[in-house]
Amino acid sequence: MTDCIFCKIVAKEVPSQIVYEDDGILAFKDINPVAPVHVVIIPKKHILNINDITEQDVKLIGKIFVVIKELAAKMGVANTGFRIVANSGSDARQEVDHLHFHLIGGKELGNKIG
Ligand code: 5GP
Ligand code: ZN
Repeated sequence: MTDCIFCKIVAKEVPSQIVYEDDGILAFKDINPVAPVHVVIIPKKHILNINDITEQDVKLIGKIFVVIKELAAKMGVANTGFRIVANSGSDARQEVDHLHFHLIGGKELGNKIG
């Protein structure tokens, strides 16, 4: 998608601090971190949000969670704890319309999820 910032990051047209990459998945540091560890994990292919995931994406989405597990360990938060957030749609204030999972940790995150 030409006007999608995350597709531009995938295409390396926009620089980012990449922490993981394979054929189908990219993970990079959030430009505006809310915690000491704040990584965004995305499928390379443009999926709008969770509403647009299909059966064909089952392997890809499953792999994303294996990557999340490995990144949590790599970033040093596997044992202390972390939160995964996937904003979908306007009530969740999804800003970037390309499916992504926030991996947030490195501090006590509090009990608010809404
Ligand atoms: P959302 O609110 O859509 O779940 O979150 C989008 C996230 O993408 C935000 O946390 C925002 O800081 C991050 N973001 C937006 N544009 C860029 C960018 O150009 N580079 C990086 N690294 N992160 C971005
Ligand atoms: Zn995109």
